[in-house]
Amino acid sequence: MDKKQKFSLWYFALTLLIVWLFSDLVYKPLITRQMEVPYSTFLDDLAGGRIQDVSLRDDRVLYSLKRESERVRPVIRSAVRIQDLDLVSRLSEAGVVFGGVAQTRSILDTLFSILLPFLPMMLIWYFIFKRMQGGGSSVMSLGRSKAQEIQGEMMGVRFSDLGGVGEAEVELREIIDFLKEPERFNQFGAKLPKGVLLVGPPGTGKTLLAKATAGEAGVPFFFMTGSSFVEMFVGVGAARVRDLFEQAKKKAPCIIFIDEIDGIGQSRARGGMMASNSEQENTLNQLLAEMDGFSSNTGVVIMGATNRPEILDQALLRPGRFDRQIQVVLPTEEGRLEILQIHTRDMPLNPDVNLEAIAKITPGFSGADLANIANEASLLAVRRDGENVAMDDFDLAIERVVAGLQRKTPLTESVRRRVAYHEMGHALVACYSPCSDPVHKVSIIPTAKGALGYTMQMPTEDQYLIGETELRSRLAVMLGGRAAELFVFEEASTGASNDLERATELARRMVTEFGMSEKLGPVRYAGSGSMYLQSGTVSRSDLSPETASAVDEEIRILVTEAQERALDILKEHEKVLHEISGLLQEKEVITGEEIVAVVKRVENVDITFDCPSPLPKRNS
Ligand code: ATP
Repeated sequence: MDKKQKFSLWYFALTLLIVWLFSDLVYKPLITRQMEVPYSTFLDDLAGGRIQDVSLRDDRVLYSLKRESERVRPVIRSAVRIQDLDLVSRLSEAGVVFGGVAQTRSILDTLFSILLPFLPMMLIWYFIFKRMQGGGSSVMSLGRSKAQEIQGEMMGVRFSDLGGVGEAEVELREIIDFLKEPERFNQFGAKLPKGVLLVGPPGTGKTLLAKATAGEAGVPFFFMTGSSFVEMFVGVGAARVRDLFEQAKKKAPCIIFIDEIDGIGQSRARGGMMASNSEQENTLNQLLAEMDGFSSNTGVVIMGATNRPEILDQALLRPGRFDRQIQVVLPTEEGRLEILQIHTRDMPLNPDVNLEAIAKITPGFSGADLANIANEASLLAVRRDGENVAMDDFDLAIERVVAGLQRKTPLTESVRRRVAYHEMGHALVACYSPCSDPVHKVSIIPTAKGALGYTMQMPTEDQYLIGETELRSRLAVMLGGRAAELFVFEEASTGASNDLERATELARRMVTEFGMSEKLGPVRYAGSGSMYLQSGTVSRSDLSPETASAVDEEIRILVTEAQERALDILKEHEKVLHEISGLLQEKEVITGEEIVAVVKRVENVDITFDCPSPLPKRNS
C-alpha cells in the first residue's frame, strides 16, 4: 500500500466519524425540538387534551403537542416509559393517534457502535508498531528496506574529495566505467564483479569512497548499514533485503552500499551453536540468495564496507558475490598531505601553516583523524578570536586528538614533581635507546582523558616493519617512567599502570606472535585475532599448561629486562634527568629540541635518533 492510499483511508474514516457525530448531535436535535419531560407531565398533557399523536417505544413515550399554527416548529416531548397497564385505554379514551415504533438503527449507528470500542485499542496498537519501527510510517512498511536512496549527481562527493586512496580509486574506476556504459561491456561479454568489498581500518574513508563511486558514475546510490536490516521481528531482515534488491533493480544501473556489513555477514559458524542468531542467519541467507539471483549485467553493483573482514562468512566472499576486495589502508605521508589539503581548502590559513610538516609527524593517523585535526584547529582559531588558522592551532589540535583536552586543575607540588620525573624517564630512555622514535614533546599538563602528563614521540617515517631491537627499545621506553620513579623516589606509583598494561601486551605479542623468544622458538602461540582490532592478543586455547606458563615466564622476563635497561640508562644519565625534570616542572611543556640541547650542554653529546647506529655519538 503506498503512502497516498494509506492517507485517503484515514481521511475516509475520519469523515465518516464527523458525519455521524454531526447527524446525531447537531442535525437531528436541530430539526426536531425534543424535550425531556417526566411521565407525570405526559399524563397531564394527555388529560388536558393537548396531545396530537403518540409513538410508543419499548423504553420511551414520544409525543407531539397540538400546534396553534402550521408555522410553529413541532415540539416533540419524550418521557421515560414506566409500567402503566392502563396506558392504551387512556390513549383510546383521549382519542389521540397512537402507535408503536419499531426500533431500527441506521447502518452508520450500528457500524460505529461496533467499531467505537475498538478504536482506542487500534490507536494504541498503531502507535506501538510505529515506535518499534523507529519512526516508520506504518506497520505495513516493517518489511521494507530502510535504505536511503540518493541520486548520484546529488551526492556531491567526487574522488577529488578523497586523498591518499589512489590504488582503491584505480580499481573502482572500472566499475564506474561499467555503470556509465554497461552496453560496451556487454558487447564484449565481459562480466563485472557483482560485489566489491572495501576493507580497512576505521576512518580510512571507505564510506566516502563508495559515495564517490556513485558520484562519479552519476547513478543512484542505496545506502544502508548492516545492523539496520535486523529488527526484533523474525523475518523482517530477510524481507528488507528482498525489498532493497527489488527497489535497486528498478533503478539500475545503481549502487547498493551496505556499510558495516559484518552486522549481517558474520560467519554463521562463529561462536558455535549456542551463539547462533537465527534472524541474522536468515537475513544473510537472503542476501546470498539475492546476490546469486541477478545476473551481473543487470547493472546493480553491491558495495560493502567492513573493518573486520576475518569474521565475515566465507560464502559471502566467494566468486559471484563479494568477489573483489579492495584494501583501504592508512594513508602514507603523501596521502596525509592530500587529505590535509582537502580539509583545509576552505579555511583561511596563516602563511606559517606547514601542512607538509603536519603530514610528516602524523604517521598512523587515519583520514578521519586528520579531518578531526583540521576541524579542531579551526575551532581553536575561532575561540581565540584569531584572523586565520595558525600553525599553533594545528599543534594544539594534534595534542588534543592524541592526548585529549588539557585539564585546567593544577597538580600539587609533590605530584607535579613525581609526574615530571615519570615523564622525563620515558623521554630520556627514548633518547638513549637504539632505534627509538624521536621525542616530540613532553608535558605535565593533565589531560581530560585522565593522564597527568604525557611524552609524545613522533616517528620520522612510515613504518612497515619493526625490528626486535626497536621493539625492545619501545618496551624500555614504556617502563622508563616507572624506572625513574623507582630510582628517584625508591617506590613505584599507580601512575604506571597504563604503561605496564601496554608493555605487557607488547611483550605478549613478541612472544606469541612474532617468535621473539629464544626459549619458545619461532612458533605462534596466539589465537586467531583481528588484524585491525588491536585489542589484546588472545592465547591459543589448546596450549599445554607448561607452555602457557612458559609464555607467561618469557613475558615477565622481557618486561623485567626492559625495566632494568631503563633503570641503567637513567642511572648513567642521572644529572641530565634531574636537570630536565627541574626544567619541565618550571615550564610544564618542553620540546624534543630543548631536551637535546640540555643533553648537549650537560654531557657534550649529540643525540641522534638514527637507526641502526644505536648509541649517541660522543664528540671528541
Ligand atoms: P568506518 O569504518 O568507521 O565506517 P570509514 O572508513 O567508512 O570508517 P568514513 O566514514 O568514510 O570512514 O570517513 C570518515 C570521515 O573521515 C569522512 O567524512 C572524511 O571527512 C574523513 N576521511 C576519511 N578518509 C579520508 C580521505 N581519504 N580523504 C578525505 N577525507 C577522509
